[in-house]
Amino acid sequence: MKVAFVSSEVYPFIKTGGLADVAYALPKALAKQGHDVCVILPGYKQIPEGLLKGAYWVTNVEVMGKMFWINCVELEGIKYYLMFEPLFSNRDSIYDCPDRDYQFAMFCEVTLRLLKNINFQPDIIHTNDWQTGLIPFFMNQRYYADPFYYNTKTVYTIHNLRFQGQFSSHAVRHLGYRFDDIQINYMQLGIQYANKVTTVSETYAKEILTDFYGENLNHILKMRQADLTGIVNGIDVDLFNPETDPALVSPYTVETLELKAKNKEELQQRFNLEVNPDIPLIGIITRLDSQKGLDLITHILEEHLIYDRVQFFLLGSGEAKYEQYFQWIRDKYPNQVGIYLGYNGELANLVYGASDMFLMPSLYEPCGLSQLISLRYGTVPIVRETGGLNDTVHSYNEETIEGNGFSFTNYNAHDMLHTLRRAVNYYRQDKDVWRQLMVAGMTGDYSWENSAQRYVELYQSMMDQPLESIKAS
Ligand code: ADP
Repeated sequence: MKVAFVSSEVYPFIKTGGLADVAYALPKALAKQGHDVCVILPGYKQIPEGLLKGAYWVTNVEVMGKMFWINCVELEGIKYYLMFEPLFSNRDSIYDCPDRDYQFAMFCEVTLRLLKNINFQPDIIHTNDWQTGLIPFFMNQRYYADPFYYNTKTVYTIHNLRFQGQFSSHAVRHLGYRFDDIQINYMQLGIQYANKVTTVSETYAKEILTDFYGENLNHILKMRQADLTGIVNGIDVDLFNPETDPALVSPYTVETLELKAKNKEELQQRFNLEVNPDIPLIGIITRLDSQKGLDLITHILEEHLIYDRVQFFLLGSGEAKYEQYFQWIRDKYPNQVGIYLGYNGELANLVYGASDMFLMPSLYEPCGLSQLISLRYGTVPIVRETGGLNDTVHSYNEETIEGNGFSFTNYNAHDMLHTLRRAVNYYRQDKDVWRQLMVAGMTGDYSWENSAQRYVELYQSMMDQPLESIKAS
């Protein structure tokens, strides 16, 4: 199959969140299975120059008087097409530009023209999030009439329903498309016009049909329910590997679990926590955003520190109110609380390796990668049962003696505290169960192979469908 993967961010070129990881790992996994994949992204100023060293010019695309220079970079056997024009390559910010409606309308239009210029005739165009939501709409209104695209189908993946791209429809009309309303919602158009819609976990696929999680698009999503599926993300198991991770002072495997303790000692020392292997260390690595359930943590953390004598380490940055709270609690309990405010990938890996437990009580979580990394590092996740957390973390069940973590259902601080205490009790009093939980995490399969296989099956099911029935949907 020929697949064009279109994304506003792609690791290692540019990354603000999980979408970049998916846009790197999924095309790679598809190519490994023998499919012909290319990736299309904007040529931002922020892309490190080193990555553009081998770039070569392939074509130009002119739209409404703007000339986009399309350059190709080949990495690990995949062709990445970057479009250079001051619209992207002269900007200090990636998503905060006041004309982002215009930027990403152009991105979609240029994508459809450039595929034709380079004669990459895709079976599937895989689009992602609001920035590419116009592609299925443009296909429907203009490009299906072109014989070049006659056999092309579109997939639209929702990575986070909250960010929808709601603008005036001026940019779209400027490009010559018919659109009657003054307001436009790029994500909504992706959902309405793509042949298939996916999101990044099975539970999130169900949740977004409800008022609570649906972000006002649940009614539109319900109309597409028959074409909506959830496929959970994987992680790069080579990049996240406790056996080879250079960020760890003491690498370990499932056979040498006792070596994990040295990493805990290192983190305790580095951040002036009491150095003691027996005190449970709870880690959290996150954007400091209310989505991540931080209000539950601020509600009970002091009580937990005092009565359960645990340690807590936070790596994160974001909203000032949370940063201030964690600074305050660290100053009050310096032997028990460590914090690092900022983004630090290397420290993140040490925290995954050093912690005994990883806390992720999200309000909503489309997929979540942190819990998968924790499992891989034998760090027992404690999560709220939502989205991808619900699909990947299975709460320990003493009857069946199964599970790989602990979880709670309601968005309630004391339910979370109760679950933390349950975990801490096992940690202190039942070393066998604890070891079993760690091993269950470390031996799970979080690689991209399974997820990529499910996308391939989805693509294939579309290709087998008669064309007219697909276009009608
Ligand atoms: P989201 O994409 O909603 O932020 P995910 O759990 O899907 O949440 O992915 C977050 C990723 O970013 C994880 O790999 C996590 O380790 C990493 N991360 C988050 N905050 C930081 C930080 N301050 N420093 C280093 N890595 C971070």
